[in-house]
Amino acid sequence: MTPQPENPHPASLVVLGTVRTGSREYADTTALAVRDGRVVALGAEAEALAATADETLRLGPGELLLSAFADGHAHPLFGGLEHFGPAVKGLDSVEAVVAEVGRWAAEHPEEEWIVGASYDPALAPDGEFDARWLDEAVPDRPVALRAYDYHTLWCNTEALRRAGITEATPDPRLGWIVRRLDGSPMGTLREWHACDLVLDRLPARGTGELVEALRIAGESYARAGLTWVQDAWVEPEMIGPYLEAARTGALAFRVNLAQRADPDRWRDQRPAFRAARRRVEEEGGELLSARTVKFFGDGVIEGGTAAMLDPYADVTEPGAPHSCGMPVWEPEALAEAVTAFDADGFQTHIHAIGDAGVRAALDAVEAAVRTNPSWDRRPVITHVQLVDPADLERFGQLGVIANFEPLWAQLDPLQTELTVPRIGERRAALQYPMAGLARGGARLSFGSDWPVSSHDPLEGIQTAVTRRTFGGAPAGGWTPHQALTVDEALDAATAGVAYQAFADERERLVPGAPADLVWLSDDPRATDPMAIRHIRVRGTWLAGRPTFRAEENGDAYAANSPDAAGMAGGLPG
Ligand SMILES: [Zn+2]
Repeated sequence: MTPQPENPHPASLVVLGTVRTGSREYADTTALAVRDGRVVALGAEAEALAATADETLRLGPGELLLSAFADGHAHPLFGGLEHFGPAVKGLDSVEAVVAEVGRWAAEHPEEEWIVGASYDPALAPDGEFDARWLDEAVPDRPVALRAYDYHTLWCNTEALRRAGITEATPDPRLGWIVRRLDGSPMGTLREWHACDLVLDRLPARGTGELVEALRIAGESYARAGLTWVQDAWVEPEMIGPYLEAARTGALAFRVNLAQRADPDRWRDQRPAFRAARRRVEEEGGELLSARTVKFFGDGVIEGGTAAMLDPYADVTEPGAPHSCGMPVWEPEALAEAVTAFDADGFQTHIHAIGDAGVRAALDAVEAAVRTNPSWDRRPVITHVQLVDPADLERFGQLGVIANFEPLWAQLDPLQTELTVPRIGERRAALQYPMAGLARGGARLSFGSDWPVSSHDPLEGIQTAVTRRTFGGAPAGGWTPHQALTVDEALDAATAGVAYQAFADERERLVPGAPADLVWLSDDPRATDPMAIRHIRVRGTWLAGRPTFRAEENGDAYAANSPDAAGMAGGLPG
């Protein structure tokens, strides 16, 4: 067939079926055409390109094509690494975790350390786990397991011994050593400096293993319909493996790195962060950027470390240390550091969970806005669990993106057993104010915090819309006035994260946009909200190239095989 003069090259892909181009004023259309990695036509114009396209895909009835999902807060490298150790994630009892650790240790006699993640901290009362339980499975080699909050470590006695932690070891400044009644270290370490006592002893992982972890993470993302991820915790030694993965084609998703600012040495980190950003710009290709700095403002409520305006409800002596949690940064220091990195042109990404943590994060952004010249800074506060009502409107006023992990907005055991008892009913009802922030003028983005929780965006979207557990509780939804519409939730998982990523061209599927696409088995807008998570991803494209395709029989072809993805090659600019 003779190509038409205005279309010298045929489309690489034409999709015929329902296409969601965006929300509200961006209507659905009947077809979408891709060429050179970008959307080139919609509707009748795209249909006209079907006859000459390299591939034409006809969606089934009820199926939907939309912008690929994106994850505004996750830890791909940690997620990939969980694959290598004992598979303790999702196990439902201490006995099961211990048995798996014992099985894995026996299978790997060559490993000096048994390192794994991530167990459920709700399996033991108050999240306090005893070293002796692990000693039963592995008495002679050190074992260190991260809880799925990644702020807690459970060790056996040999790991405590190698770290030099004894009854005489004082609690470090940031963190504490959980003790038995006799004062001896129990085996649970909370927060930064306590965990580091053991983590600093672990043998370093090789670059090859880290690159393989990123390849595994990419496979998981592609299967779940994701093409962009914010890595929200990057240490210097992680940058080389990312560059290597990008260089060799092992990286099959777009990723922005957030380098972690340390409260004790952030001034020294500034030149190093700028140098790392430059290196990633120069060597990272089209998929990698490093434009963000991460601040851990506080801890987590279930660990009693999130920073609270009023003391925790279960504190017996209100004046006791940590009765209002454990801010990682003093508010003034956070404001000073955020202002400095903002002046260096970095996007701010602050972990804030307690109401005092959220307020300190907003104050820090406000200090940067007030001090530095105006620029397109798009600051992010992530998790946003407990917000004092007085602070809600500040998000919109300051242009702060509220990044939620929507799967957390449900009354699961983490809430009923570890959270509500710690903060009481009044404050519990203020958690995850998604609708309040969205309708008060703030931009929302969604994330998963994977491997803290599932990376599947459809599970988060279902929860944001229903505010119910997967089992359906409570029937009317938990704090139902904070539920989002399906369209709002889809936007938060696509356009909202694109905005966070400074990728305005990915906010809508219109001609010129990169063809980052996901093909769903059902339209979430037409699905029973309690069944959204059962919708299947049938295909994922990154810049027009498939990174995942489910076959009719349910099998998939290799997401990262060189001919399927080959992401080392050039992408459209
Ligand atoms: Zn995180």
